[in-house]
Amino acid sequence: MASNDLHDARALAEFSNIEPARADYFRNNFPRFGPDAWWNMRALLGDEVLPYWQHVQAVVRDAWQKKFPRELMIKLVSVATQPLMQMVEAHHAGAEDFDRRDILEQDVKVWPYQNAVAFLAAQPWRALFCTACGKRFAADKPGRKFCSDACTAKARKASKLASWHEHKDEWRSGSKVKAAKVKKGKKA
Ligand SMILES: [Zn+2]
Repeated sequence: MASNDLHDARALAEFSNIEPARADYFRNNFPRFGPDAWWNMRALLGDEVLPYWQHVQAVVRDAWQKKFPRELMIKLVSVATQPLMQMVEAHHAGAEDFDRRDILEQDVKVWPYQNAVAFLAAQPWRALFCTACGKRFAADKPGRKFCSDACTAKARKASKLASWHEHKDEWRSGSKVKAAKVKKGKKA
């Protein structure tokens, strides 16, 4: 695993979770994660005209849910194909007479976004949903349940509280007869 892989995968998880009001925040935190055109272009999604990044985000969310099947991986990797995006960017910048050959002859850049998609498609067990907050996150190890230390702490607190409610009579009185009543068929 290259050192950037997990970092890029985490950025993709964050990208998949952002609300429209937080788009600039994401862009500032992960500059050049994908083509600039994503943030400037708008396109039709259903009946709504939305910024292009929201189209990409919708496919990323779908892929996350489905564990990055090959078809969606190819779709996601190719939405960031640089020559096309550069042409679009140049067009939007008002450069009507830019030379397309210059663009097509350049080396194709691999965006961190594309690296993240390829990485998660190869190791789809990393594409998880946090058990506490429900957000998407990229796991560093198999069996992770929570997206962050904050969610781990929150879940630990909640489970302690649930355990207290389940056993409070038992713990308060020390009576095993009462404890049996509150178990409700659950395993101790
Ligand atoms: Zn979480």
